[in-house]
Amino acid sequence: AKSVGRGTIRVFEPEMEALATARSEMERGLRQAIERNEFVLYYQPQIDRTDGIVGVEALVRWQHPQQGLTSPASFIPLAELTGLIVPLGKKVLHMACRQLALWQVCPATQHLTIAVNVSAKEFFDDGFVDYVSHTLNETGAPPEKLELELTESQLMQDVDAAIKKMQALKQKGIRLALDDFGTGYSSLSQIQQLPVDQLKIDAVFVRDLVFNRNDIAIVQTIINLGKALNLDVIAEGVETQAQRDVLAQLGCHKYQGFFYGKPEPAQTLTENLMVT
Ligand code: C2E
Ligand code: CA
Ligand code: CA
Ligand code: CA
Repeated sequence: AKSVGRGTIRVFEPEMEALATARSEMERGLRQAIERNEFVLYYQPQIDRTDGIVGVEALVRWQHPQQGLTSPASFIPLAELTGLIVPLGKKVLHMACRQLALWQVCPATQHLTIAVNVSAKEFFDDGFVDYVSHTLNETGAPPEKLELELTESQLMQDVDAAIKKMQALKQKGIRLALDDFGTGYSSLSQIQQLPVDQLKIDAVFVRDLVFNRNDIAIVQTIINLGKALNLDVIAEGVETQAQRDVLAQLGCHKYQGFFYGKPEPAQTLTENLMVT
């Protein structure tokens, strides 16, 4: 029903209606799932140059009663569209901080940081800084072990407001990372103003890195930028030893990707840490 011309509107109408119904059904389901705490966090390791695990990224999953474990790609966009990302993000932050607090009592996990993804709607929500602060207090998680992942495009929506919020978070001792770095269009002078601790090289530049000269040039530039601004640089989407080796040669010293480990529940992740 993709033909253009007169009369096609009649064809589209029922389809659009069905789409709208499906959307509101999904929205209702999502809202209910948040209330019922059907979301769980998976954790993916972040590795340093000595192959030691230094932290994890928390990645949300919907433990759907019928459909089973569901990936964020299938519900985060709708959550962002409907604003439900705000209550969902609060649950995510709370779970991550609780995990951080739990990890403090064990020598094998004490040093780990947890990175949490924060959407624009959550970040620009008025209560965001207070909620983060409150959650840290309530759970007893150490602020310097919590890292918030923001994207440049999200921050560029309102740079001045963003910088103020980021400074408030930095004042509480929280770490900040720029996620999907290199895919946005912010200028160097804008980047330099942002109070961040880490750049995350987007996976698209890592994928073909081993044989693509342009990707090598881009990654080298990001690493140099990190050095110049005294920021950590981590590469995501590292799937092979060859990618890891090229990254190391270029001066990148932190890695995340399937080569080191897929996202997994805290339980199995820490079990593996204990035995190795
Ligand atoms: P992201 O923040 O860029 O997270 C990285 C994604 O790449 C994750 O997908 C991860 O599982 C996947 N990944 C990790 N290593 C590899 C690899 O070596 N190869 C490949 N092909 N993929 C790899 P996931 O878990 O499906 O999450 C997708 C996106 O959903 C995330 O992208 C993030 O934008 C969003 N998201 C996930 N959890 C949250 C959350 O708690 N809050 C918010 N606001 N967004 C979240
Ligand atoms: Ca991320
Ligand atoms: Ca990313
Ligand atoms: Ca991404």
